[in-house]
Amino acid sequence: MNTRQNDFDVIVVGGGLVGASLALALAEAGRRVALLEGQAARFDDLYQGWDARVYAVSPANRRFLESLGAWPGMERIGTIASMDVRGDRGGRIEFAASDANAEALAWIAENRWMLAALWRRLEHCDITLLTGVRPSALSTSARQACLTLDDGRELTAALLVGADGANSWVRGQLGLEASVKPYGQSGVVANFDCERPHGNVARQWFLGDGILAWLPMAGQRMSMVWSTPEPESLLELDAETLAETVAATGDYALGGLSVITPAAAFPLRLIRPQSTVKERVALVGDAAHTVHPLAGQGVNLGFQDAATLAALLQDHRDPGDWLLLRRFARQRKEAVVTMQTTCDALFALFHQHQLPGLPWLRNAGLSLTNRLTPLKRQFARHAIGF
Ligand SMILES: Cc1cc2nc3c(=O)[nH]c(=O)nc-3n(C[C@H](O)[C@H](O)[C@H](O)COP(=O)(O)OP(=O)(O)OC[C@H]3O[C@@H](n4cnc5c(N)ncnc54)[C@H](O)[C@@H]3O)c2cc1C
Repeated sequence: MNTRQNDFDVIVVGGGLVGASLALALAEAGRRVALLEGQAARFDDLYQGWDARVYAVSPANRRFLESLGAWPGMERIGTIASMDVRGDRGGRIEFAASDANAEALAWIAENRWMLAALWRRLEHCDITLLTGVRPSALSTSARQACLTLDDGRELTAALLVGADGANSWVRGQLGLEASVKPYGQSGVVANFDCERPHGNVARQWFLGDGILAWLPMAGQRMSMVWSTPEPESLLELDAETLAETVAATGDYALGGLSVITPAAAFPLRLIRPQSTVKERVALVGDAAHTVHPLAGQGVNLGFQDAATLAALLQDHRDPGDWLLLRRFARQRKEAVVTMQTTCDALFALFHQHQLPGLPWLRNAGLSLTNRLTPLKRQFARHAIGF
């Protein structure tokens, strides 16, 4: 590569959902973009089998992906038309998209299926894709960011974006401290065939020591996210016993279950870096924040980082301008802090066992809210992301 070929408007480090969508949005807007992804042979087999990692994608983010031509075909997409949430002592709240005059609260899509749609688009646009290579050094100056790769190449850009996940290398290189609060739980995920139709209902049970969610996938299938302090007790089960345990814990709401994908677990942590921007660098997605998955909003926050940054950079001559980066950080801070605080407070409310009366209060609160139509409408609107 000659010098010009190594110089970009924006370098994105990390080609997961958030980095890939940002890189695509910027390239589509005519920016010179390099996308660096550590994994080799990116996603040749993405369409194989089912992925246990699924997301509830909000309507706003579906529109964002559609605008990029990267919303995957509907044959593998589930719809959440309503939610049924149960407390640990009989409390219950149900709300539906129709409460907010909307078509769906969210769509359920597999991680790999969405990545495939994004990378397929990336391969056909004017962008430099660097896969199977990792960065080894990062430096910044007032004019640019400079990235050295582990094969010795040097890249420069007006802006470098860290989209490299919760254990972000970029964040570490910048010396940005992050407060990390482990929840003492892991999210155990697996997909199941169901005996009965799910009716496009997402179901969630607060269990006292954990939270079980069933998300409606396409067809008669559902995806489970079980936040639990003892993931091994689920991961060690054979397929039949796992299916029976999950079905029984959900009161056989969908009849009997059978496992489609083996269970996998991921640690649940609240990560808050001291800042998401620094001279010529911005962080997006899990590199910038993580939340408890009880509201299913982790990847939605990341997509909104990407959409916001891409919109701010449009028509701006210098994509790494400090005032622009500050504006990006300010714009995202409120949404991220609100979501982190809400999930954290809900987690605390349903995992507090010391205060007498609290279990009754939280369940009564759920049931009371269920009877208050305007509040329910608010819930539905909030879930959709109005
Ligand atoms: C098993 C599992 C299940 C999950 N289930 C849910 C769920 O049900 N709901 C939910 O909201 N969230 C869930 N999450 C969290 C969710 O996956 C993240 O919020 C989301 O993937 C964040 O996207 P991202 O693009 O920011 O980061 P990531 O998906 O982590 O992508 C980061 C990318 O950067 C690449 N990378 C990392 N370091 C480097 C480097 N140094 N150089 C180059 N490339 C690098 C990685 O290979 C990866 O492709 C789950 C996570 C896991 C692991």
